[in-house]
Amino acid sequence: PVDRSEEIQNARMGLPVVGEEQKIMEAIHNNSTIVIWGATGSGKTTQLPQFLFESGYGNPNSPNPGLIGITQPRRVAAVSMANRVAQELGQYSDQVSYQIRFESTTSKKTAIKFMTDGILLREIADDFSLRKYSVIIIDEAHERSVNTDILIGMVSRIVDLRKSLMAEDPTVTPLKIVIMSATLRISDFTQNAALFRQGPPPLVQAEGRQYPVTTHFSRRTHRDYVEEAFRKVSRGHRKLPPGGMLVFLTGQNEIRQLSKQLKQAFRPTQRADTTQARVQITANDAPLEAEDLELGGTEMDNAGDDDESDVEITGLDEPEDEDEGFDLGEDAMDSSTRVHVLPLYSQLPTKEQMKVFEAPPEDSRLIILATNVAETSLTIPGIKYVFDCGRSKEKQYDLFTGVQSFQIGWISKASANQRAGRAGRTGPGHCYRMYSSAVFENDFDEYTDPEILRTPIEGVVLQMKSMGLHNVINFPFPTPPSRQGLAKAEKLLKHLGALSAEGQVTQIGRRLSTYPLSPRFGKMLYIGHQHGCMPYVIALVAALAVGDLFITENQVNPIDTQPQKKKNDDSDSDSDEDDRKVYTNADRLEDTEREQKAKDYARVHRLLSKHDETSDALKSLSAICAYAYASDGEAFSEQMFLRAKAFKEATQLRRQLTDIVRSNNPGLIGAYEARLPEPSTKQIKALKQIVTAGFIDNVAIRADMAPVPPENPRAPRRAIDVPYLTLFRSRDGHADDISERAVYIHPTSMLAKLTPKEMPQYIIFSHLQQSSASLVSDQVPKIRM
Ligand code: ADP
Ligand code: MG
Repeated sequence: PVDRSEEIQNARMGLPVVGEEQKIMEAIHNNSTIVIWGATGSGKTTQLPQFLFESGYGNPNSPNPGLIGITQPRRVAAVSMANRVAQELGQYSDQVSYQIRFESTTSKKTAIKFMTDGILLREIADDFSLRKYSVIIIDEAHERSVNTDILIGMVSRIVDLRKSLMAEDPTVTPLKIVIMSATLRISDFTQNAALFRQGPPPLVQAEGRQYPVTTHFSRRTHRDYVEEAFRKVSRGHRKLPPGGMLVFLTGQNEIRQLSKQLKQAFRPTQRADTTQARVQITANDAPLEAEDLELGGTEMDNAGDDDESDVEITGLDEPEDEDEGFDLGEDAMDSSTRVHVLPLYSQLPTKEQMKVFEAPPEDSRLIILATNVAETSLTIPGIKYVFDCGRSKEKQYDLFTGVQSFQIGWISKASANQRAGRAGRTGPGHCYRMYSSAVFENDFDEYTDPEILRTPIEGVVLQMKSMGLHNVINFPFPTPPSRQGLAKAEKLLKHLGALSAEGQVTQIGRRLSTYPLSPRFGKMLYIGHQHGCMPYVIALVAALAVGDLFITENQVNPIDTQPQKKKNDDSDSDSDEDDRKVYTNADRLEDTEREQKAKDYARVHRLLSKHDETSDALKSLSAICAYAYASDGEAFSEQMFLRAKAFKEATQLRRQLTDIVRSNNPGLIGAYEARLPEPSTKQIKALKQIVTAGFIDNVAIRADMAPVPPENPRAPRRAIDVPYLTLFRSRDGHADDISERAVYIHPTSMLAKLTPKEMPQYIIFSHLQQSSASLVSDQVPKIRM
């Protein structure tokens, strides 16, 4: 029997999961796979491994000698949960270990092994039957990360594999699977016939949170939530009784900002502040991982300003203290109490992240500023107050441009509840939501979409292939992406050379999987070093990836404001008088203005196309390079008809891509240099070839120059009427009928300015777009070389 301290003994007694031990162990005994649902704090992560351990799993002399493996979505969770379980296991503590990227404490003694899901995926690639393990616990399955989803699909097959191996070899033992979730959205697992062919796995529930958490909504929702967090946390620190604070923000920049503000505001008067955590880390200490990247989205577009219902018109002099929930009827901390501010985000080295578990210096209040790294799994002792900004940075994927980015948006209700739960782990707590209940009710989704639906599918296919999984199309995903999508992704990867003709991952493929971008862009970076082009390729990829850089001419001078067609403003005068409206002086003035604007617009675009008159891609490159020379980006954008926000984002991406390329291949490129010299003619030629390599399957040929030109009696009058045929069938419809197969150049392309005769034989395009305005085929190749 395990010799537990009395304190641990008592703590375990209160956990709902402990009350269900017998039921859980019976279910595991009788089934290969079970699902456990228990609210956050019910004891899943700490107790399940111990139940299994105590019933003999992981013991070399038992019928289930293999290891107990537990996956965690994040490194800091794997390490801290291993520590806690070791502590609870008394004399057996040295049998608990963890393994994360670059670090492992496993030994011969190990019986319980915590690891990140990435580690287990790699182990599957090495030994598909996972013979080392007798049970795999997949924790936090409700988070629905791509890794978790793939793991669940994998292990469902491995269970069957182990059964058939057992039939041949008596030394093989069975594998058990435990899927654990903190929310009840589990039908994707339990009701999925492809996943569990023996029928749905049983569900064991363990209800009830350990300690109550009181939730306080704000009356108003502020747009600048970092500033609001500063206000709230500062006042909370002055007014609230002792207890640690956990503040949820969306990214490391916000965390740095708030950390600085708090430290300044509560700086001790005499002594130097020795509690400062080092926030800056060098690239070497923190190897970049795709999911750690902070791309784009430093401001929120649409969240925060739509909370009309709660905005108080007299809000300016709103009594600060009212309604905040800071009056808990207990004494506040001593007003001279210092703050011990610690950051917690995934790019921080694990060692730094682990500092949040240490007791703060005496007479100070622990304030942890975290991203949603701290949303699940972790128990940070002493946290009594949670401050939730209600936002997070989520991976987004634009199917259209193939661009993956991170955008700040509202979290789901389920996430908000997880965050609140962090306050009730070691005692009763309070959660201060920095948003109103109306925003929570109306704007928060129930759950976050599974990550796999927000990820470029080529990337997922590439990842699975590199794990040696060949039949991706029939893979039992909990939420399957479309079969066509999967097939198309596989084809694209072959075109790019990431997969061999037989579907094996090539060396290029391995490299492409390290970029947080569509493999198309990865390919461009992979070959980008020729003729010293790398800095240009990075800038170009950043520009193309962000996309939508230019304000279109129609947006500068909308057609419907032309005086001839101008509609009368009076809403009820829908009569034909409109057409006979008098041409006034004001109209004339407006016309002159329009003409001037049109001239300016044309001049700007001529300037940006000076390197090449037919490539939209190179025009984007010129624009991003020119932007880097401007002293005032906003003013420059306005003057050049550029979208300032897109340029800010692309510039940020340039910097990050430079870091990634450098850490992958230090010899290839120097430190980030925003201002590049003009590319040489040779480089321009190389750049065009590099873009072509990334979009190699997006080729169109001018229809009348095709090997078998279709009959097309009408001679096109404008460039945008010249029909092209794509290399691969891109539309349904009759193969012989040109009007059903043709695609046309988009009017915003530089090519649209050519005469029909000048139109090139081949075009490389970035994407096709179905026009909604016309019934005639109107898909539009956009990029061209
Ligand atoms: P779940 O996985 O269901 O969310 P856990 O097993 O992680 O729950 O934790 C259950 C409870 O155990 C926590 O609510 C907390 O009371 C206690 N606990 C866990 N880790 C620690 C720790 N490091 N220090 C103190 N108590 C802890
Ligand atoms: Mg847990």
